[in-house]
Amino acid sequence: MKDSVRNEILEDVDLSAMTSLRLPAQARYFVSVTGISDLTEALAWAATEGQETLLLGGGSNLVLAGDYNGLVIRMAFPGRRWEDVSEETATLVLGAGENWHEAVIHAASEGYRGIENLALIPGSTGAAPVQNIGAYGAELKDTLVSVTAYDCGIGKPVTLSNADCRFRYRDSLFKQEPGRYIIVEIRLGLSRTRPFTLGYGELKTCLGDCPGPGSLTPLQVAEAVMTVRRRKLPDPDQLPNAGSFFKNPLVPLAHWKRLQARYPAVVGFPGESTAKLAAAWLIDQCGWKGYRDRRVGVHDRQALVLINHDGGTGDELLALAERIQEDVKNRFGVALEVEPRIIR
Ligand SMILES: Cc1cc2nc3c(=O)[nH]c(=O)nc-3n(C[C@H](O)[C@H](O)[C@H](O)COP(=O)(O)OP(=O)(O)OC[C@H]3O[C@@H](n4cnc5c(N)ncnc54)[C@H](O)[C@@H]3O)c2cc1C
Repeated sequence: MKDSVRNEILEDVDLSAMTSLRLPAQARYFVSVTGISDLTEALAWAATEGQETLLLGGGSNLVLAGDYNGLVIRMAFPGRRWEDVSEETATLVLGAGENWHEAVIHAASEGYRGIENLALIPGSTGAAPVQNIGAYGAELKDTLVSVTAYDCGIGKPVTLSNADCRFRYRDSLFKQEPGRYIIVEIRLGLSRTRPFTLGYGELKTCLGDCPGPGSLTPLQVAEAVMTVRRRKLPDPDQLPNAGSFFKNPLVPLAHWKRLQARYPAVVGFPGESTAKLAAAWLIDQCGWKGYRDRRVGVHDRQALVLINHDGGTGDELLALAERIQEDVKNRFGVALEVEPRIIR
């Protein structure tokens, strides 16, 4: 039988290799949990000792701007199973610690559609609902049926429906009420027949040689997504990064029209009352793409991605982010919001 998780709490643990930005930082205390009883025990220990807690998945959406003076809880809940399998549909149930990309490939290999556009997004399954991960016209909310989360407010697990999760663009209940919910399991509704989302130009071009949409498989779509992503995005193992550092900003339609009149090439997607601007275009226009300031910089193929080139610190990276935000604000009147969570 497993020892009490309290005995597995480590002190002064180096976190740099546990985040994709590889920023130098230590956790005062660290523990890895694989089930609800571990989790509740770790939380009880932190409460007794007066320690704050920080949940860690794959560390691909975190900027550690210094040491964490509390207990880091690594969510390592395992588990992958199919439920409610019918001829056309099935529910994929995933533990929070499962690797997201591996889950996508598993589903696609079994012929199920719905998450293939989200291939190669790094990180854990438990963090996927936090920012409603999205790519190439698809978002987690399109397939998520429900989340099982430990509700720290009432001290027990609860089931949250898709509507309960209040998903929006890179946003959810879990960001809106920080610290309340710890995701332990998610359920995805997948189908063998739902139409693919292939609207993105680069994806279409990449699938050009494949058979028509009628005979495409979800694995072929996932592989095309992987090819497109590898062309554009740096591999964190080679160039440490956190993916998109800024969200695509939403501006009122009147602002969008003014920008279009002044900059006809501006990239954006107008909706009913707002337009979503391509943050990468705004940053690129300000001349930041490929910029490097000693240890930190901006990727030379994707202006949204900030890079920790060579042992840079969180402060250096955040100072660069601020300079970019200022430039974009001054030139286009648009405020860029940082996408990853910053821990100071
Ligand atoms: C190269 C690269 C490409 C990327 N591409 C995309 C992309 O295309 N689309 C996209 O949406 N994102 C993208 N990301 C961002 C990132 O991969 C996702 O946000 C991912 O879901 C983060 O998972 P993680 O396990 O690494 O989370 P972490 O970074 O460990 O944590 C992120 C946040 O979630 C919290 N958290 C972690 N686990 C749990 C849990 N079980 N319950 C509650 N809260 C939890 C953490 O405390 C933190 O606030 C990219 C990142 C990189 C490095």
